[in-house]
Amino acid sequence: MDRTDVDVLVVGSGPAGSTTARYAAMGGASVMFIERRPEVGVPVRCGEFMPSLEEVKFMFPNYRDEDDLFDIPQDLRCLETHGIKLVDPKGKVTLLEHEGYTTDRDRFDQYLAKQAVEEGAVLERNCLFKGIEGGVAKTSQGDVRYKVIVGADGPGSRVARSLGLPKNRNPYPAVTAQVKGDFEPYLYMFFGDVAPGAYSWIIPKDGRANIGVGFSPKFSDGNLSEYFDRFAEKRGFKVDMKLEGKYVPSEGPIARTVSGNGMVVGDAAGQVISVNGGGIPLAMIAGRICGKVAAANITSSSPLSDYETQWRHVLEKPLKTAAFNKKLADTFAFRSERSTVMCMNILGQRRMGNLIRCKRIFP
Ligand SMILES: Cc1cc2nc3c(=O)[nH]c(=O)nc-3n(C[C@H](O)[C@H](O)[C@H](O)COP(=O)(O)OP(=O)(O)OC[C@H]3O[C@@H](n4cnc5c(N)ncnc54)[C@H](O)[C@@H]3O)c2cc1C
Repeated sequence: MDRTDVDVLVVGSGPAGSTTARYAAMGGASVMFIERRPEVGVPVRCGEFMPSLEEVKFMFPNYRDEDDLFDIPQDLRCLETHGIKLVDPKGKVTLLEHEGYTTDRDRFDQYLAKQAVEEGAVLERNCLFKGIEGGVAKTSQGDVRYKVIVGADGPGSRVARSLGLPKNRNPYPAVTAQVKGDFEPYLYMFFGDVAPGAYSWIIPKDGRANIGVGFSPKFSDGNLSEYFDRFAEKRGFKVDMKLEGKYVPSEGPIARTVSGNGMVVGDAAGQVISVNGGGIPLAMIAGRICGKVAAANITSSSPLSDYETQWRHVLEKPLKTAAFNKKLADTFAFRSERSTVMCMNILGQRRMGNLIRCKRIFP
C-alpha cells in the first residue's frame, strides 16, 4: 500500500474498530481498517468477560437489539458465568447475581474483524497510524486519503489527538495473565490494598482463569506488576507467562467525539464503565452506530454529528452515573482498607448490585 483512497478509514481493529468497519461496509462505503499489530487481538490485554445481552439491556435501557450484534458463536463462549463475588479487605464475600460469559479475546476480536472483512472492509495489519497531514492519513505503510476517519485506537488515541478531540483523563493501568485450574462459574473482585483504587480479579474460563489487577496511581505508590505478583502469590497461582496490560479510561466519555470529518469510538471515546472497566459491549454498540453514520455520510451526506447524538442517547446517562459512582468510591471508599470495608458494609448487596450495573446507588 503506497497510496490509497477510501471512503472510510478506521484506525484500530479492536471491538470498536471492527464493528465500525463492518457496519460502514454494510452501509455501502468503501472501508479500510488498519491495525498496528501483526495479528488482530494479540496479545490479549483484557479480563475477557462479556455480560449477557439481558445485562446489557438492563444497564443501557435505550439500547435496541435490532440485529445479530451480540450473537456471538458458542465456540467463543468459554464459560457461562452466573454471578460476581465481591470480596472486601477482611475477606467478607457479597454475591451479586450477574449472568455473562468469558471468551478468548484474541479469537473474539478476530471473529469481529472477519465479520467486517466479509462485508468488504479491507484490513491492513502492521499498519501504524501516525497522524493527519493536509487531510491525508500518514501510516507506516503509506498515505491514505479518506472522506471520513474513525479513531478506534484505544485509550491513548492518536486519532483523537490529530482531530483536536479531548483525551481520556486519569486512565488507570491494569495487567492480566492466564492461569490453569478449575474454577467455579463466578467472577471474583477483590478490593483493598491488593489493588488500591480499583480491584484485582479472577475471571473463570474453561480449565483456566484470567487473573489481573488494576490500580489507581493516586492511591498507590508501587509498581503494578509487584501488586500483581503479590496477588498471585497470595492466591497460590503459578503464572508462567508474560503479563500484559494497558490503560482503562476511568472518568466516563470524553466531552466531544466528532470533529470535522472524524469520529472516535470505544476506549478512544472513553466509552467504558468507570466502576468496573468493562468496555467490550459498549465499543460494539457505539461501533455499530459509528459505522452506520459513516456510511450514511458517504451515501447521503447526512452529518457525522448524528453519531454524537445517537451514541449519547444509548450510553451516556448510565456511563455518567458510573463515573459519578466511581468518584464517590474514590472519595469515600478507597481512602483506606477500613473505609473500603465500611462503605461496602453500608452499601450492602442491593446497592453494590446497582453500582456494578451503572445505576444510582442512592435515590
Ligand atoms: C486489563 C484489562 C482488562 C479488561 N477486562 C475487560 C473485561 O473483562 N470485559 C470488558 O468488557 N472490558 C474489559 N476491558 C476493557 C476493554 O478491553 C476495552 O474497553 C475494549 O478493548 C475497547 O475496545 P476498543 O476497540 O475501543 O479498543 P482496543 O481493544 O484497545 O483496540 C484498539 C486497537 O487499536 C490498535 N491501535 C492503537 N493505536 C494504533 C495506531 N496508532 N495505529 C493502528 N492501530 C492502532 C491497537 O493495537 C488495538 O488493536 C479491560 C481492559 C483492560 C486493560
